[in-house]
Amino acid sequence: MQVFRFTQAKTVDAALEPGGRFVAGGTTLIDLMKLDVETPKSVVDINLLPLDSVETTADGGLKIGALVRNSDLANHADVKARYAVLSEALLSGASPQLRNMATTGGNLLQRTRCYYFRDTNYACNKRQPGSGCSAIDGFNRIHAVLGGSADCVATNPSDMAVAMMALEATVHTQGAKGERAVALDEFYLVPGSTPDKETVLVPGELITYVTLPKPADGTKSYYLKLRDRAQYEFALASAAVVTQVEDRRVRRVRIAMGGVGTKPWRSKEAEAELEGKTADERNFRRAADAAMRDAKPLKYNGFKIELAKKALVRALTVTTTA
Ligand code: SF4
Repeated sequence: MQVFRFTQAKTVDAALEPGGRFVAGGTTLIDLMKLDVETPKSVVDINLLPLDSVETTADGGLKIGALVRNSDLANHADVKARYAVLSEALLSGASPQLRNMATTGGNLLQRTRCYYFRDTNYACNKRQPGSGCSAIDGFNRIHAVLGGSADCVATNPSDMAVAMMALEATVHTQGAKGERAVALDEFYLVPGSTPDKETVLVPGELITYVTLPKPADGTKSYYLKLRDRAQYEFALASAAVVTQVEDRRVRRVRIAMGGVGTKPWRSKEAEAELEGKTADERNFRRAADAAMRDAKPLKYNGFKIELAKKALVRALTVTTTA
């Protein structure tokens, strides 16, 4: 296997041969290579690209380079002050050591923690298209209740992406056809019959940065993650909320859920249910019911539906309590 290093984003796409992969922090790719789940023909090391800064944009938003480390982003003063949900989500993920290595771009692309995906002894359509899904009739306690298909029910594991979904992030890329910007809500794909295709990225296309819009005045945000243990564990259910409340009414709200969907799950149904309503527990519960209305439990993960609702009600309560 060959390893390439590049210093300009505009040259790396040409370097990525069919079957090649970009590597930055390596916290997903190297693990999966050790398990023979990922077997790239070549690896392009992008760590020398000048994509490691966090800047305020001309319109007051934030531009986050793809190589900004998760620790640096979580502890960035502007992120803590104006995008608290993002800092909280990042700090709830992995371990300090992993956060020091993991990058913004890599976090967006981290692969599922489905046990069967990570064990080559089992059939997995995501790892080997057409081989079957061992989770649907297997032990599926950690799997998705939203967005699944007959071919895959794996959850997306990222906390950061859930927060960015609620913050209405845009992903910027560079590829053979030039640059493009994709709303994060359209960046991820549900599995359908092609669970191996997880995003709209095409081969050789590199994430260069992520932008966040300027938060509206009076906005509060919060990330709540529920899991089997307090640290170093993936979400069974999580909620990211960004709220703007005036005179006890919810003027604007953005809601995303983690741990329950096959992609970081923006719930426009819950937002529509809550906007314009009084900020109280009864309306939060209605929004939570709307968020999980289409949930389809499997044999072992039905508990996630109520867990996710409680996470959302609690997160909304926190951001709307003076
Ligand atoms: Fe593979 Fe998806 Fe089935 Fe898990 S849920 S075994 S990732 S196809």
